[in-house]
Amino acid sequence: MAAILAAVRDAAKLCRLVQERYLIAHTKSAGDHSEPVTIADYGSQAIICRALQQHYPDDAVVAEESGEQFTQLVSAEQRAQILQLVSGVLRQDVSEAELVAWLDFGADRLAARTWVIDPIDGTKGFLAQRHYAIACGLLLEGQAAEGIVAAPGYNDGDGALFYTHAGSTYRAPLAAGDGRRVTVSSRSRAADIIAVQSFERAHASKSRMARARELAGLGEVRILELDSMEKYALVACGDADLYLRLPREGSDYAHKIWDHVAGVALVQSAGGTVTDLDGTPLDFSQGETLPNPGMIISNGAHHGRVVEAVQRAMAE
Ligand code: AMP
Ligand code: MG
Repeated sequence: MAAILAAVRDAAKLCRLVQERYLIAHTKSAGDHSEPVTIADYGSQAIICRALQQHYPDDAVVAEESGEQFTQLVSAEQRAQILQLVSGVLRQDVSEAELVAWLDFGADRLAARTWVIDPIDGTKGFLAQRHYAIACGLLLEGQAAEGIVAAPGYNDGDGALFYTHAGSTYRAPLAAGDGRRVTVSSRSRAADIIAVQSFERAHASKSRMARARELAGLGEVRILELDSMEKYALVACGDADLYLRLPREGSDYAHKIWDHVAGVALVQSAGGTVTDLDGTPLDFSQGETLPNPGMIISNGAHHGRVVEAVQRAMAE
């Protein structure tokens, strides 16, 4: 795992370089809608998958981007830019064929061990210079077993690397250095609770989440809005206590496993609770998408009460 931690740190370094030098978004189609993607998404995924290929050659990978999309969507000039940046971060000359092969590593197989990668989670946040994350999780027999989440925007831009190891969760400086063990908070008084939710209006129903908190007796809690899986990390390390992700009315959005596996592992190994809206575990056994319409993530203190409140809010 140390090699994969190092690769995620390299991927975060690359994302910062792209943010400083070029910020070019493309629009890719994703089912019935389109989403932004940047050259940093491809570079980050290539760096992580390269390490997986070296250290876990028999494992499977489910990752957000693909080699084919990279060659079709990105101009020759921009492909050259990202190759140069990846070569610099890895301190070796990388060819376009190598980069494309890394992007697709492990995508052609099924295995009991499946790495699940979001090379830039919260691309909209990345483009707007808000929060984003680089996420790499490991599914073992369909269970979220391990997670690594780099959060460059953590603590006002100091950045942090969150990861699981031997059943616990750790937080390390993003650039280098060992982690310290973290756990979920023990806060339970409504007045002390900090809730987190998506910044993007389109990603979750802010009114339903407010209503569910109100019904759970948590109407007055402090709310932080930020992009990406950093929200899972904030619950895991005790900086936040509750993270709701409730679908907008009429939404049939299918959540992607790469937006959740690493974060779920972080929270569970830190002693927290992650469930579907009805209190059951998330189902990572159905391929790229989750059958679950939403998520409730907490330090455990009010989980049962929040599930009941969410059920009522969804029925209204
Ligand atoms: P967040 O910043 O927590 O909302 O998470 C960003 C992730 O939300 C991105 O990786 C997107 O794939 C995902 N996303 C995009 N559209 C939606 C949607 N309509 N509902 C829920 N999540 C979405
Ligand atoms: Mg994502």
